[in-house]
Amino acid sequence: MTRHSAVHEEAFDTDVMIVGGGMVGGVLARALAADGWSVEVIEPRRPDESASFDRRLTAVADAGWQYLDTLGLIDAPLAAAAERIREVRVFDRGHFGLSRITARSAGVEALGYVMPNRALGERLESLLAGPPTGEGEIRYHRPARYERHHTDADGVTVEIRHDDEGLVTRRARLVVAADGADSAVREQAEMDVSRREYGQVATVATAMPARPHGGVAFECFTTGGPLAVLPAAGGRVSLVWVARRDEAERLGGLDDAAFAQAVDATFGHRLGGFSAPTPRAQYPLNLVTANEPVADRLVVLGNAAHALHPVAGQGFNLCLRDIRDLARVLRADRGAAVDPGDPARLAHYRALRLADYRRTIGLTDGLVRGFSLDLPGLGHLRGGTLSLFDGLLPLKNRLVRATRGIA
Ligand SMILES: Cc1cc2nc3c(=O)[nH]c(=O)nc-3n(C[C@H](O)[C@H](O)[C@H](O)COP(=O)(O)OP(=O)(O)OC[C@H]3O[C@@H](n4cnc5c(N)ncnc54)[C@H](O)[C@@H]3O)c2cc1C
Repeated sequence: MTRHSAVHEEAFDTDVMIVGGGMVGGVLARALAADGWSVEVIEPRRPDESASFDRRLTAVADAGWQYLDTLGLIDAPLAAAAERIREVRVFDRGHFGLSRITARSAGVEALGYVMPNRALGERLESLLAGPPTGEGEIRYHRPARYERHHTDADGVTVEIRHDDEGLVTRRARLVVAADGADSAVREQAEMDVSRREYGQVATVATAMPARPHGGVAFECFTTGGPLAVLPAAGGRVSLVWVARRDEAERLGGLDDAAFAQAVDATFGHRLGGFSAPTPRAQYPLNLVTANEPVADRLVVLGNAAHALHPVAGQGFNLCLRDIRDLARVLRADRGAAVDPGDPARLAHYRALRLADYRRTIGLTDGLVRGFSLDLPGLGHLRGGTLSLFDGLLPLKNRLVRATRGIA
């Protein structure tokens, strides 16, 4: 459909061009279309091939889950594929110190939900690739790849390389870069990024625990990195084991039984052992942050804006708050002058998001560095720090708020 701006007489192909149809691009497309914007999404891969919708499970905080629900994304199959987090236990392997947060003490049904990425991918696919459900409409360019864009005062011209149709040029009012940590859009816009190599790799699998997980999410800090054991549907658990590169290589090479045993030993036998692990996937971990989340008629979102260490399960949760705020800002003052790329709106969005970025990136990075250093005496300090969480109500409340995605 060709859209005419009420401000200028120029015709635009779409209001918003989203580059990248992964978890973030997909949810954003849904949010904006529900508000009546016309949206186009460029994605090179089919959903079952996308790295975003691979076999990982994602812990979504309660607030993020409620937001997905308001977007109509939590249908019965997705709800059935997810497991409630009723309690979070954080401890430091080999030292004293335990912090515990329960849904009951927080006055909620669940602190969060552990969801298979693939289940969200399937839900998004059924909604986005089908006929439009709201006022807005979504057009998919797939399989297709973003090539370049050119920005002028009124809009953005985007060149898209379709696998079958060749080069296609589209005109949009706003471009959103949701094309991952190595974002080509961000690079083309010459936006600065900060990178920190953690020298760690996450080894990810699911397994069946000998004792029921009871909805408890465990985060076990070790000197090599954290091991998360998260409750998953069907009685299984999701394992995210972060270790230094050489140790991760060793973990990747173990047979299933030896891997399950290694997890159990590190985890202190809390669930009586593990069996039937799925094939392991590994993710090298770096902190990549765009120094600015907006530029002329451009918003950088998701991994393209901040690819975080998975230690506190904050990455996608932060992305959901970005999406919610961007949708809100674009929705506000929608009158005759319909321009989602208006610089004042983007400046408003930037101002809204910066404090959350500082807080969340600071929390995640601080946890990685504070708990991964193997220094003499630091273990006791770490144990002491965690015990303090139990005694200090304000800190604990902050942790609860972060866990629930409210922060
Ligand atoms: C091991 C691990 C565990 C995690 N666990 C959690 C968790 O429990 N809780 C949590 O909140 N977060 C978690 N995260 C973070 C979460 O995975 C990310 O926040 C999320 O994947 C961000 O999605 P995205 O769509 O921005 O990026 P991506 O998943 O990187 O997707 C980018 C998309 O852009 C597409 N693309 C790439 N290049 C182009 C191009 N040129 N043109 C068009 N499209 C392109 C790709 O095909 C892809 O579909 C975890 C991360 C890791 C690594």
